[in-house]
Amino acid sequence: MKTQLTRTNVSPFKKIAEILMEDFPYYAGWKFIEKKRGTMHYCAMAYLEKKKGYSDWRIRLNLIDNILEKYGFPHDESTKERLCPVEGCKKTGPLLGLIEHMNAGHKLPATEIANAIERIEHDNRRLPPYGGKEF
Ligand SMILES: [Zn+2]
Repeated sequence: MKTQLTRTNVSPFKKIAEILMEDFPYYAGWKFIEKKRGTMHYCAMAYLEKKKGYSDWRIRLNLIDNILEKYGFPHDESTKERLCPVEGCKKTGPLLGLIEHMNAGHKLPATEIANAIERIEHDNRRLPPYGGKEF
């Protein structure tokens, strides 16, 4: 019972970070899902979807909306503009966009994306004045 209470207090950032810390066949690109040597590999987002019980074909066809909200992110939090936590990088975007960017752009291992997500939660840096749009 105590454990149950503690779990519900875990922030959604921590929840998705914990999932990406799991040892799973990871694909460092934003292609959702791909079979390699007989094993299905998942990108960060695809694995987050898989863990919510979605089937591979649904993930492959990208038929899942607002996966972050399914992990408990309020809509405002999931769409809020944030800064990429990778040092020296100026990319901004909503959390899911940054996960995609770290996944396919920086090609970070899943565990590093997990650490980066926890850094995003506590990131107090100001967004660039131009609104963070990339040219
Ligand atoms: Zn970046």
